[in-house]
Amino acid sequence: MDKLVPPPEGSSLPAFADIILPLAVPGLFTYALPEALVPRVVPGVRVVVPFGRGRKLYSGLVRRVHGERPLAREARDVLDVLDTSPLVTEHQLAFWERLAEHYLCTLGEVMLAAIPGMLVLSSGTRLVAAPQAAAAWTGDPRRDLLLEALERREELTLDEAGQLLGLRDPMPVVKQLLDAGALMLAEEIHERFTPRLERYVRLTEAAATEDALHGWFDRLARAPKQLHLLMRHVELSRCLSDDPREVKRDQLLRASDASAAELTRLCEKGVFEVYERPAGTPADDAPRRAGVSLSEAQQTALAQVRAGFVEKPTVLLHGVTASGKTELYMELIAEALERGEQVLYLLPEIALTTQVIGRLRARFGPSVAVFHSRLSQRERTELWLRMLREPQAHPVVVGARSALFLPFHRLGLVLVDEEHDPSYKQHDPAPRYHARDMAVVLAAGHGGRVLLGSATPSMESLFNARSGKYGFAQLTVRFGDAVLPLIERVDLTEARKRKRMQGNFSETLLDAMRRALARKEQTILFQNRRGYVPAWQCETCGWIPECEHCDVSLTYHKQDHDLRCHYCGRAYAPPTQCKACGSNRLRMLGFGTEKIEEELALLLPEARIARLDQDTTRGKHAFERILGRFGEGAVDILVGTQMVTKGLDFDQVTVVGILNADHLMRFPDLRAHERAFQIMAQVAGRSGRKRDPGRVLIQGRDIHHPVIGLVVAHDVDGMYERELPLRQAHGYPPFSRLVRLTLKHRYEDRVQATAQVLAAALRERLGERVLGPEPPLVARVRDKHLRDILLKLDRLAYRGEKAFLSGTLDRVFADPRHSPVQVVVDVDPV
Ligand code: ADP
Ligand code: ZN
Ligand code: ZN
Repeated sequence: MDKLVPPPEGSSLPAFADIILPLAVPGLFTYALPEALVPRVVPGVRVVVPFGRGRKLYSGLVRRVHGERPLAREARDVLDVLDTSPLVTEHQLAFWERLAEHYLCTLGEVMLAAIPGMLVLSSGTRLVAAPQAAAAWTGDPRRDLLLEALERREELTLDEAGQLLGLRDPMPVVKQLLDAGALMLAEEIHERFTPRLERYVRLTEAAATEDALHGWFDRLARAPKQLHLLMRHVELSRCLSDDPREVKRDQLLRASDASAAELTRLCEKGVFEVYERPAGTPADDAPRRAGVSLSEAQQTALAQVRAGFVEKPTVLLHGVTASGKTELYMELIAEALERGEQVLYLLPEIALTTQVIGRLRARFGPSVAVFHSRLSQRERTELWLRMLREPQAHPVVVGARSALFLPFHRLGLVLVDEEHDPSYKQHDPAPRYHARDMAVVLAAGHGGRVLLGSATPSMESLFNARSGKYGFAQLTVRFGDAVLPLIERVDLTEARKRKRMQGNFSETLLDAMRRALARKEQTILFQNRRGYVPAWQCETCGWIPECEHCDVSLTYHKQDHDLRCHYCGRAYAPPTQCKACGSNRLRMLGFGTEKIEEELALLLPEARIARLDQDTTRGKHAFERILGRFGEGAVDILVGTQMVTKGLDFDQVTVVGILNADHLMRFPDLRAHERAFQIMAQVAGRSGRKRDPGRVLIQGRDIHHPVIGLVVAHDVDGMYERELPLRQAHGYPPFSRLVRLTLKHRYEDRVQATAQVLAAALRERLGERVLGPEPPLVARVRDKHLRDILLKLDRLAYRGEKAFLSGTLDRVFADPRHSPVQVVVDVDPV
């Protein structure tokens, strides 16, 4: 921050403002306020300010208004004010500050992550005309001039718009046009949102009575196929019961084995009508469902949660898979709403928000909002503004981690479901925050409560619960008659020896899948690697093709017949010759999801198979589509990466296969065993949620590993007791806080030299708690060489040690020999 001189005695003119700029620059910047603007400038409004050399303008955010003139230099003027009321609340600004402080990043970086992009303008912002621009002609010469220019050329930067209008600061005009929907940001063009429509079939009003239906049953006696279609619809829609369901057109055709022509005929006769609705949204007039009555176990757990909240702001709920945690959350939501509070429901994956939103809207109505990064800019902006201006508009928000940044007014409860999930941590860019940990900070700012829920809680949260920092509640049985699945081990070494393998499948697993197929039940197969095979290898010398820009072996993708780098995304043509010895005998190594899918098609030709991994879910609705088909029973076997492990709730899954448990455990990471346990226990939890008994088969070579034993025994406590002493012995979390510094430079000797200087400087105070520098597992990415330094900071002396770290970083990187080396600071890396 700029050094300030206090105002002269007796003067308290608010003539200056401290501004957060949307840039990765540290600190706040002080600008002077022209007198005319003073009344309009309050914390949280956007102002237009120049920054740096040249004419560059930015929309900055006011943090503070005061009368203290900056000492070092002449303060430049604020040029204009963009908002009539704050765009960001005091709660939010305070939260940003806590976050920036914890993760050692700048407020500007937090601002960029927090605010929808449409609300952050700069000279370089690219503008285009919106489709409805023509309607916005107003007779205002400036606005019309800009719109006219955009009719002639595709896009203008804000800077160019200023030159065209002869204005130093074109932002207010541009902002008006953006608000009116006449202009769009250039980035918006690529995300024009078209919801995927789904077709449904319902009885016409005339046909929907019991009498009318019986009439049709008689009349259709001579058209048995149509009669069958009608009867299936009555069954599926439960239209004669008091719990009617909507019926999808595809689902009906499949279930009745009828053709589209027959359906059309019934529509023509006036029996059915077909209607469309965006996928994943319940009908607005869908009947509200009252709360279920909770089981005894659920009531006990709920009482534990409530009792926990009396004394502690955060409670951990350990509930086994399918124990009915979601129902419990809904009770707590209902209570919070009655108190007039807002609720935030966090999930680690965007896809899971779609599963939950239906359940929430069915109970709490259409005002339940969804927020995540796959919404378009405009949708995100609209939700932000609505929450700001109408505090009652969205009492419940479901979202992925970025939903933490929304403008809540009175946040009473945050639910963090699947709290152990590493996807809660943002990796790139800064702020590298952990949404679970920041949920606790956010709620504290509102005096609200946090419930962390999981079937496999993280070591950190269990530790906090056991040490009394968090409250604790437990659900140890599945809801209803469902029992936990039976988990079996399949020894791959032995199966290979006895020739009881077909490709990557043991006979035991194949057998279980065949039986499920025969009973029309479903299977989920988990494989940790996507693609066809992880690598090709030369049979003669062992050479493996690697990325030219990253030190990592390439993965073959059969669909596109190319080798791909999973770090930088580059694709290569498969080699025909070994680059080391010239041999042309290359073979494939290992296996990935794509390969599994292919093997399966040969082994079980009658099965309908789908694959769920990064490659098959690139499209906007791909994830929902695949899961939707699985949920409807149009797919028998779902093969996937970690995506299939996460919180999915399907009734008909009775077999789960984990194809290679060894891969999971062999990761050189302090959390490898914790993660392996969580992943296996979670994917196992997908089995037998309604039917019993579900079966889980874990294949592996090292099948008697103690961690697998704990998975088989469903023993979360055992896992905790095995792992905790190891963490303590090595001074790892929860006994310390880790900070990872990653240094990057094009030249290896430069990065190594700087890393050594930095590590030595840090050792002066931290001694042995500085590990490295070391090249990470993949030591070169996108042509940059990497070095990692890992710090174990003392939990109790954390503030002081972090300040020492900041100071040391500033000092070392102020040196011109080191400043070209880039450093990434990751606090609490996962
Ligand atoms: P979890 O979140 O623990 O995996 P869910 O809340 O999804 O579990 O519950 C599993 C299944 O049991 C769901 O289909 C849910 O609707 C059902 N269920 C849970 N509790 C009840 C209840 N009290 N009454 C009726 N159904 C319930
Ligand atoms: Zn070779
Ligand atoms: Zn690469």
